[in-house]
Order: sequence, then C-alpha cells, then structure tokens
Amino acid sequence: MPTEMFEFQVEARQLLQLMIHSVYSNKDVFLRELVSNASDALDKLRLEALRDDSLDADTSDLHIEIELDQDGRTLTVRDNGIGMSYEEVGKLIGTIANSGTAAFLQELKEAQDAAGAEGLIGQFGVGFYSGFMVADEMTLVTRRTGESSGTRWSSRGEGTYTLETVDEAPQGTAVTLHLKPADPDNQLHDYTAVWTIKEIVKRYSDFITWPIRLVPEAGDGEATPEVETLNSMKALWARSRDEVSDDEYHELYKHVSHDWRDPLETIRLQAEGTFEYQALLFLPAHAPHDLFTRDFRRGLQLYVKRVLIMDDCEALLPPYLRFVKGVVDAQDLSLNVSREILQQDRHIRMIQRRLTKKVLSSVKDMKAKDPDKYATFWQEFGAVLKEGLLSDSDNRDALLAVASFASTHAEDEPTTLQQYVERMKDGQDDIYYMTGESRQSIENSPHMEAFAARGIEVLLLTDPVDEVWVDAVGDFKGKRLRSVAKGEIDLDAEGDEPSDDSRDKQAGAYAALLNWMKEELGEEVKDVRLSTRLTVSPACVVSDAHDLTPALENMYRAMGQEIPPTKRILELNPAHPLVRGLNEAYQQREDRAELVETAELLHGLAVLAEGGQPKEPARFVKLVAQRLERTLH
Ligand code: ADP
Repeated sequence: MPTEMFEFQVEARQLLQLMIHSVYSNKDVFLRELVSNASDALDKLRLEALRDDSLDADTSDLHIEIELDQDGRTLTVRDNGIGMSYEEVGKLIGTIANSGTAAFLQELKEAQDAAGAEGLIGQFGVGFYSGFMVADEMTLVTRRTGESSGTRWSSRGEGTYTLETVDEAPQGTAVTLHLKPADPDNQLHDYTAVWTIKEIVKRYSDFITWPIRLVPEAGDGEATPEVETLNSMKALWARSRDEVSDDEYHELYKHVSHDWRDPLETIRLQAEGTFEYQALLFLPAHAPHDLFTRDFRRGLQLYVKRVLIMDDCEALLPPYLRFVKGVVDAQDLSLNVSREILQQDRHIRMIQRRLTKKVLSSVKDMKAKDPDKYATFWQEFGAVLKEGLLSDSDNRDALLAVASFASTHAEDEPTTLQQYVERMKDGQDDIYYMTGESRQSIENSPHMEAFAARGIEVLLLTDPVDEVWVDAVGDFKGKRLRSVAKGEIDLDAEGDEPSDDSRDKQAGAYAALLNWMKEELGEEVKDVRLSTRLTVSPACVVSDAHDLTPALENMYRAMGQEIPPTKRILELNPAHPLVRGLNEAYQQREDRAELVETAELLHGLAVLAEGGQPKEPARFVKLVAQRLERTLH
C-alpha cells in the first residue's frame, strides 16, 4: 500500500497547535506520557495473553526501552506491547476521543493568559501529542499483536499525518521524536542527554511496573555498554507510607487517571487478615467534564499480587464514587476472573463496602481538618455524592454528615443539615428547602416570600439529583425535609401572624371567588386556594404534597418516560390589591368575561414567576398588551 496522507480532525489540530507553541511550561512531562502509553500497551498485551492462550505474541520479556541518538537528535520510546492496527493508528492517534474536548477548546479560547491555558490543558492531558512540545516531527512504527504487517505513522504536527503499511515491524510500538534544535542556554532540557532522561524517568515514572531500560548509543569500536534499568518498579501501595513522597503518589495518580494535575487527596488502605489487599485511592481536584455522561469511564485498576488484571474495574466502588481513581491490589483473587464474575464476587463486594466507608470517612476528616479543601471537594463532586443518598441506604448517615448545601443563611457558605437544625427557630419543626435552576431563581421565587419575611432559613438546592434524594431521605434527625413549593405550608402555626379566627373569616370572604376560578381554570389547575406563603406577589403555583414537581416531570420526560402533565395548585395572596380587587369585581359584576381573562393572567404570572411558561405564551402576551394599552388612555 502506498503512503497515504490524512488530515487531523479539527480538535486534534487545535490541540497540536497548542503543543507546538507550547503553552505548557514543564515540557519534561512528554516522556511521562509516552512511557505511560507504553506501560498501558504492555498491560493490555498481558491481559490479552491471559485470556487467550493461542495469542501469537512473545510475553517473556515485556519492557519499555528508551533509545537516544545525540547526533541525529532523536529520542525513541519503544515497547513490545499490544501495538495498534492500521485503522487503530488512524483512529487513536488521528483524533481525540475525549468527549469533553470541544468544551475544553471553548474554555481554552476564553482563557486569556498562559497560566489559565496551562491549567486547562492539564485537565485533558494530551498524551501522545505532548511529544510535539519538544519535537518538530514524530514517527510511530507499530504492529498489532496477531497481525503480520505493521504501520508507520508520521507527522510534523501541522495538520496532516501520513500512514503507510510496513512489512517488517517488531512486536509493539516505537515512537521516535525528532527533537527540536538544542537550546544552548538550557542544557537541562537536552533530551538526548542520558542524565536528563534518567532524572525524568526517576521523577515521573519510577513506579511503572515494567522495566524502563536505557539503550546506550553504540560507540565506534567500543565494547557495548550495559543496558540499564531506570526505574525501581516498586508498587507504591506495597511500600511503607513514609517511604513514598507525595509527589510519587501524585505521579501514580496521573498515570492511572490521565489527569495532568495533582489529586486533591490521597487515601491509603491496608486490609489485613484472611483476605488481604491494599488500596491507593485518589480524589481528583476537579470534576471531569463527562462525569454525568453515560460513557464516563469509571473504575479502579485491579491488581492481583502486583499484576494488573483489570483496568476500570467498576465493581470496586459504587457509581456515586465513580470519580475516585486508584489501584486495588488483592492477594487471593484468580488472575483470570471476568467482569461478570467480579460483580458477584463476595470478596469484591467486601472490598467495595470497605473502600466506600474509607472514602466517606476521609471526606469527613477533610471537612474537619481542612475546610477549604473540603469546600473544593464538595463543589466539584457534591452533586455526584448526593446520588448515594438515593442508592446507598447503608451509608446514608455518613453521606448526610458530609453533605453541605447552599442556604439563605449565608451567601457563600454552604451549611450542613446539622448546622441548619441547630439554627432552627423555636417552634420550627421542619427543614425547609426549595429546588430550582439557580440560587438566584429560587431566591426570587414567590414561594420564598413568607420565609424571607419571617427569617426562616431555606436550603437552596440546584442540582438535578436534589429533586429526588430529598423525597428518598425524608427526614434528618426527626426533622422532616419539606419543600417550600409543595403542599400546604402553615407558617402561622410557627409564628405569630393572624389568628385562626381571622383566617377563617378571610376564607369565607373568598370562597365564592376561589370556586369560580377553579371552574374557569380547571383545565390548568387542580385547585385554587388562599396562600400563606406570599407577602409581595399576588399568586404562585405549588405542587401537591405527593405530586411530581415540574422539574422532576421534565427529568422523567428527558429519560424517555411518558408522564401525563401534573396539574398544580394556584395560590392567591389575599393581602395583594390585585387579588382583593378581583374579589370585589367578582362580587359586583354580572358580566364576568373580562374577569376570566384576569384570572387567566394571574395564573400566567404565577407560572412565570417560578421560571415556567404560560401554556399559550402568545395569548398571554396579547392579553397583557391589551391591558397595558388601556392604562395609557
Ligand atoms: P490517552 O493515553 O490519554 O488515551 P494518547 O493520545 O496518549 O491518549 O493515546 C491515545 C491512544 O493511542 C491510547 O489510548 C492507546 O489506545 C493508543 N496508544 C498510544 N500509545 C500507544 C502504544 N505505545 N501502544 C499501543 N497503543 C498506544
């Protein structure tokens, strides 16, 4: 097959531009990335060989080699791992699969300064492409295990790459960087210098479980010098805690997570006894962009006695801890275990329970000892953790203990339920909350008026999952969780406002109007009643205590479920002049045609006020316009 030329996908091209003009100040990390890819390729080959006896591959000496050529100014990273087919090279190296890339590039455009851009690049890790920070040309020769011919890929990183089939190629992949000219002012970064490479490998890749060997340059007529292994290959989780530096843990995190930034927290766990295992878990510092998508890759690496047997092992943690990265190394598992069997395995379930408790207790410690760190954590992952309130009743209390929520109590200081309860007013029995799109939309919603007027604290819940967990949890320490936008709210029982007596009188005066409105608006509303929630607005709509809220309805519909629309309750504020006026007009007039419109408008206003849409917006606008017009005459 002749050499074919291809264009990089648009996103890939943009990233390459960034690499070439290198916004990333620490260029050394390109080697970590290439070594990390090589190590993954060796892991994959071993796993495949484990599953398939007939695999035509030599697994007797799996390793990584680094070869330097000072005169030719090249650096080659070679592995005898799984390799890639012709199609795979085009797909894996020619495109960027990460679903968040588009979002990332957008943010990158918006990040004005280099520091911002560097932070963003770190979020995505550009892996293989990072080679272009130091090279003006890269070539890759690879042969996929089981195939007889290989593939040669080459690019100058400027928009195109070439692919060509080669007859002879050794098992695995060799990536050769044609390095940019040496910078005479910066000897430290001459990547053909042996000691530079040694240092970089030691710093970033020491824990890699495969040997990383430095192949010496063949000198003229001299005896060939020894091949040297640069890394200790010691598993970090098997070493004692004081032997390992934070930096070393962080490098392992970067290798397993493909995140370029340091983790927020490192969690170690050693389980002894009949079923022994070690775990090294990391809480990332930032939520990945695809955390809430279906194809988010979750799971830990599962090792058995230092041998990786599964990447992305999902069974080790519950879905609501899917952002946790790391490694579990167990002593007594079969090397040949399948994912399906693992899901059922008693030991794995035991590990999952233990890891879950450990993560939650670490978050609790973090909350007590380092509130800022905890605040970052909760900001990034709170929405995911709250899923656990629904799915993991065993750990519900532990989750509630570390959960915090925005509240009317303070602008930018979230509160725990415990703190809320401690601040509750005398006679207040319930914990009030309201769900909505944003803090601002909730705070401006009419449902909040009476609570604001009486100084009763309300939790402001803005994550989609909030709609659901509050119902599932129900109460906290005997205090009911109650939506301010659902059911009847009787604040007067908790305060000092009008007596029952005067309220009854009021109800009597409005009874006829309410009945009539209910009839007129019957298509739209379930009931019309007087409100105790409103102080300023004329009206609001609320859900019945056990009905779905509009947000939940939308959520179910988005998931493809057919939900009949739930009728809601219209509440009127008898203290508002518009409502009072309507009542008087209703009693005085015979011809109520115009009042029907007023009732309709009142309902539309209530729907708008909570961020909804009147059923027929065009008609609503027309009615409002007509009325406005009249005010001008
Ligand atoms: P990442 O490693 O974050 O997935 P890269 O751009 O570094 O991103 O690599 C893209 C993909 O190319 C890898 O996921 C892997 O499938 C493949 N790949 C890269 N290097 C190698 C290698 N040395 N051997 C086999 N496959 C590789």
